[in-house]
Amino acid sequence: MSKLPDNLPNIKILDEKDKTLRRKSKEVTFPLTKQEKKDIKDMMDYLEMSQIEETREKYNLRAGWGLSYIQIGVPKRIFVMVHEYEEGKFQRYVIINPKVKSMSEEMVYISEGEGCLSINRPVEGIVPRHARMTVEYYDESGDKYEIRVREELAVGFQHELDHLEGILFTDHIDPKDPFKNQNRYRSI
Ligand code: ZN
Repeated sequence: MSKLPDNLPNIKILDEKDKTLRRKSKEVTFPLTKQEKKDIKDMMDYLEMSQIEETREKYNLRAGWGLSYIQIGVPKRIFVMVHEYEEGKFQRYVIINPKVKSMSEEMVYISEGEGCLSINRPVEGIVPRHARMTVEYYDESGDKYEIRVREELAVGFQHELDHLEGILFTDHIDPKDPFKNQNRYRSI
């Protein structure tokens, strides 16, 4: 586990009203700049601190476990996830220039609804997502990998992949019928 900073990283997460979030992010070139590396670390530290009760309360944060670079205003194809896979244990993912290789036919949705650090209002409704997917990506050193994700992690990846295209989870919800076709998908 990486050591967390003494203070909350100073990042500004854009709100949905900011049109920047609608931009399509561009491929990243290697090597990463110092600033890019710092931003990646800051985003992950922020996410981890938002999930730990003590720091969440101290800094009055909303818990989140995924962030795309565009959410702090930079339209480059990078997203990070900090996943609490076991109580108090966090797995970090840095995903650069991702390409989807395959997706399951089976669709799922998060029963309590999706959330986003850029959307500061309650939104109800279901967002159908593929239950499993395989994604090719580059890490911070520019090495290529492939990862197979499933269930909530697969949902998280699809949520962040959408951000790279300028899409927000609310775009998938019909406000007139937010639970449309619910019984066609498995809830998780
Ligand atoms: Zn989001």
